[in-house]
Amino acid sequence: MDTRIYDIKARQILDSRGNPTIETTVILKNGAAGTASVPSGASTGSFEAHELRDGEKDFNGKGVTAAVKNAEGPVLKALKGVCADKQRTVDRIMTELDGTNNKSALGANTILSVSLACAKASAFSYKMPLFRYIGGTSAHIMPKPMMNILNGGKHAPNKLDIQEFMIVPTSAKTFSDSVRIGAEVYASLGKILKQNGYDTAIGDEGGFAPQADSAEEALELICEAVKNAGYQPKKDICIALDIAAGEWFNGSEYKLPKAAVKMTRIQLLEYYMKLVSEYPIISIEDPFGEDDYIGFSEITKRLRNIQIVGDDLFVTNPDRIRKGIECGCATAVLIKPNQIGTLSETIDAVITAKSGGLKTILSHRSGDTEDTAVADIAVGLNSGQIKIGAPARGERTCKYNRLIRIEQMLR
Ligand code: PGA
Ligand code: ZN
Repeated sequence: MDTRIYDIKARQILDSRGNPTIETTVILKNGAAGTASVPSGASTGSFEAHELRDGEKDFNGKGVTAAVKNAEGPVLKALKGVCADKQRTVDRIMTELDGTNNKSALGANTILSVSLACAKASAFSYKMPLFRYIGGTSAHIMPKPMMNILNGGKHAPNKLDIQEFMIVPTSAKTFSDSVRIGAEVYASLGKILKQNGYDTAIGDEGGFAPQADSAEEALELICEAVKNAGYQPKKDICIALDIAAGEWFNGSEYKLPKAAVKMTRIQLLEYYMKLVSEYPIISIEDPFGEDDYIGFSEITKRLRNIQIVGDDLFVTNPDRIRKGIECGCATAVLIKPNQIGTLSETIDAVITAKSGGLKTILSHRSGDTEDTAVADIAVGLNSGQIKIGAPARGERTCKYNRLIRIEQMLR
């Protein structure tokens, strides 16, 4: 199979927040092509790979024309004639061409769009779905979804400091069943909010963004929505939180910006312990700041039955994941391909996490596109879990729908 790269065409498209992002098409000598676009975060970790933005007048400084030029210029020059199915080689050439340790020269957005487009063009050449191309015959596990139905933090202009309130349909037998249950609870929550006079605006990831006064109020609303939809909290449906506490940390204490409350590490830990004792919470992401290893290892020790997820803590970086494993800082890693910038390194992050006994959760970003690669990567790497927002809005539902199709292919 001749998968040599022949051409690269890139362009500026819009993400779900209306911001520009790069979409790249890699064309092979055999005529096959693959197109990939890159999502963008709002509560980004400071150790993430660099997202290249123009910083000029267009799109309020958010343009990505330099990234587009990089893909069509130096990246094409370096990759022309290289076999797209040699993913490691493709990714290494781009990383070396970039030459920085955070991909700030070419932009991680540039590099990831090419990296994923190469995988898609190769999968197409081999007449394989992307998940099969990535995972071969070992790809077989449908991920359990964490479905974000209520938004706060930087993703919603309400009073909630916690960024994501997610439901996990634990009693679902299949992925499609999880989607059905999640969609039913989402609809039920919408109804309850309306009946009780809350507004039903939605946040960046499609979850509702009601003006609830506290996390407890949000959690009560969710439990009520679960019951009204005909399910039992804890038995059928559990709750996962993404605190995104890095947004609150000033290096010594935690300042919740919306509630205007200050907490020490210990007070915050006690607060989580209280929430966990009162609500069916099974997973907490970024409970502490990205450098607060003490907070992370303390909560991991104290809340043994709760999954502690590192997102900004690990930034999908194998080195940071190894460090986390050594200090027992978490029990799961959030995997976001654009935090590290290539498919190969994303695969390495998953392998590193699993070999250290950590669970893995593939993830979208709050600003996302119609690209569904993250769904295929989750199945290809048997990640076990996935977080792709609410069961609503096209940039979220395309990933759920892709997984429904993959589930059928695996039967
Ligand atoms: P982000 O949020 O995409 O805005 O970074 C998602 C998350 O924190 O998991
Ligand atoms: Zn997060």
